[in-house]
Amino acid sequence: MSEDTGEDNGQHFLVDLMLMRLGRWLRLLGQDVANPQDASDDRLLLQARNECRTIITRDKELLQAAAGAGISCLLIRSSKISDQLQEMAKAGVPLWLDPRRCTICNGPLQETKTSGMKKWQCSVCKKFYWEGGHWQKMESMLQAIRSQREENALPSHCRR
Ligand SMILES: [Zn+2]
Repeated sequence: MSEDTGEDNGQHFLVDLMLMRLGRWLRLLGQDVANPQDASDDRLLLQARNECRTIITRDKELLQAAAGAGISCLLIRSSKISDQLQEMAKAGVPLWLDPRRCTICNGPLQETKTSGMKKWQCSVCKKFYWEGGHWQKMESMLQAIRSQREENALPSHCRR
C-alpha cells in the first residue's frame, strides 16, 4: 500500500489489543511493535499515522478504516499463534529469534556480557533476557513453522 516503508530497514508495527501475544512474538523476532495506547479504533489509527506504523489486526472493520485513511494495515486471519506467525512470514518478517526489542515494553535491548553468558537488558524497563531453556522451546517452534513453510512453497521451477 504505502510505498515509503523501506523493507530492508525493518518494519514498524502496531498491534491491536487482541493480538498482544503475536506482538510479543514479533518483538522476539527483532521487530519494532508498539503497544496500543488506547483500545479505540480511532486512537489506534491516529497512533499508527503519527508513528508511521503498520497496524496488525484481526478486525476487518479496522482494516477498512485504515484503508480509508491511507494507513497501512495487515489483516491476520488465524487465531492460532503458529499460523499467525506464518502469516507474518508471508508479509516479510523473518522467523528467526533476534533479541532487539523488549517483549514487555518494546524498549531497545542492549547486549551485556556477564561471566561469558550472552545477556540482553532492556534500556527502558531494565528487564534481562538470556538464552535459556525457554529460548530453545521458542526456537524449535519457529523451526517447525519454517519447515512447514518450505513444504508449502512451490518448487522453484513452478514459480512464475
Ligand atoms: Zn522493557
